[in-house]
Amino acid sequence: MSSASDFVPQPASADIGVYGLGVMGANLARNLARHGHSVAVFNRTPARTERLMDLHGGEGDFVPAVDAAAFVASLRRPRAVIIMVQAGSATEAVIEQLRELLEPGDIIVDAGNTFYEDTERRETSLREQGIHFVGMGVSGGEEGALLGPSIMPGGTDASYERLGPLLESISAHVDGEPCCTHVGPGGAGHFVKMVHNGIEYADMQLIAEAYDLLRGVAGMSVPEIADVFRDWKHSELDSYLIDITTEVLDRVDPATGAPFVDVIVDAAGQKGTGAWTTRTALDLGVAVPAIAEATFARAASSAPAQRAAVRAAGLNAGTTVPHLAAGPERDAFVDAVRQALYGSKIAAYAQGFDEIATASAQHDWNVDLGAMARIWRGGCIIRARFLDDITRAYEADPQLPSLLTAPTFADALRAALPAWRQVVSAAALAGVPAPAFAASLAYVDQLRAQRLPAALIQGQRDFFGSHTYHRVDDPEGVYHVLWAEPGRAEEKWN
Ligand code: NAP
Repeated sequence: MSSASDFVPQPASADIGVYGLGVMGANLARNLARHGHSVAVFNRTPARTERLMDLHGGEGDFVPAVDAAAFVASLRRPRAVIIMVQAGSATEAVIEQLRELLEPGDIIVDAGNTFYEDTERRETSLREQGIHFVGMGVSGGEEGALLGPSIMPGGTDASYERLGPLLESISAHVDGEPCCTHVGPGGAGHFVKMVHNGIEYADMQLIAEAYDLLRGVAGMSVPEIADVFRDWKHSELDSYLIDITTEVLDRVDPATGAPFVDVIVDAAGQKGTGAWTTRTALDLGVAVPAIAEATFARAASSAPAQRAAVRAAGLNAGTTVPHLAAGPERDAFVDAVRQALYGSKIAAYAQGFDEIATASAQHDWNVDLGAMARIWRGGCIIRARFLDDITRAYEADPQLPSLLTAPTFADALRAALPAWRQVVSAAALAGVPAPAFAASLAYVDQLRAQRLPAALIQGQRDFFGSHTYHRVDDPEGVYHVLWAEPGRAEEKWN
């Protein structure tokens, strides 16, 4: 075992290296060491390495290094280095430094939250040098990194052969199975992590809307709503996010005695992964309205001057707030919100999985969608019982056109839809915003519709831009109407 004073050249013995010993990197290194792996550790500012060794050097076999060259020299071949620094220029700088020191066959792992297109670009560039580059999603925050995260590595099969056993040993485990698997080549790992975060945005927004409806429509107090969420833990909604929601709602502000949720400024922050997921879905042509609405809702909440101005404009016309008294009617509404939340959650996850499936097909990643749900069951923020059903659905039919069509979810949606419609109507009538509930319902209605008004849009497009259309009696043919000519004749162009 080494201590801070042992910063001397080491034999090439360490199983793996961690470069970047901030909150996440230090915890990941400790997790590796605690699982019996010999871990080389290095940080640009030596004080962080010293601090790790002083506080936790006794937890396992750490090999601290004073500079990047010593760090690389202490790794056994083929060398594997996990970079855990900020995404963007910091990650770029570290990769450039390491590529000078590594050899063909070695592996660089970027465990930060990098946009998958950057990962694809870096992988291509490093491949020319024979270096494997792995973009790896890590979910679970600080605690997950130490105690067991959900890990989503991309990259080559060869790199996973080397890394897999180490990563699986330190990941969360559920029912004896690791929450880590090889997601696919190239940027697949970072892509799946991005969509995971997008789904997390939607899940959080839906829970927040349920809370707001119970408060704004049913007129319930915060402690009463906390009890509702406590109950929902014993339903299909059981999840980490429901647990922490209950805890946040239970908390009373010691300074004022008010519910804690009432002393927090109602402006939600974001670091950008919801926006990435939405923007990427737009590029792919995939509908992810629940994720998009969740992202937009954070933006709308964070525009206080605009909100104050619109509030002052007095746009309350038509709102009727029922405020239900405790009793059967209120109980029925609470149960309707539970069903609406579950229906919306199914729709949101269906959207996220559709985005992964579409990208996987486009990039030839061959992502196993059921396995993604399986590795999200532990370690990460969206961990939930519900994910088992998703895994089973994809195991039963890996080619599912949408999660909405899996028998379990189709049954659940059929059961939830009547209540879900009532809840969205009640929200609209009360003027309580429920954008993700409403958008998820509209998503289901769009996909189940026999005919969509897209036909009219095609007519408009053909009128003003000669964009052409297909006919229902000739779906392959390309048609245009000569709108500007008196006879408005229809022509077949192809
Ligand atoms: P952090 O505590 O702020 O630490 C940042 C680390 O990056 C430090 O070790 C810092 O070294 C290093 N660094 C910055 N610029 C550098 C450069 N140009 N060259 C070399 N090293 C540089 O960050 P963190 O929370 O651990 O997050 C690290 C990554 O993990 C980020 O990509 C983040 O998005 C991702 N992530 C975080 C979480 C989370 O919950 N925090 C969860 C999943 C993923 P110095 O000490 O020398 O400044």
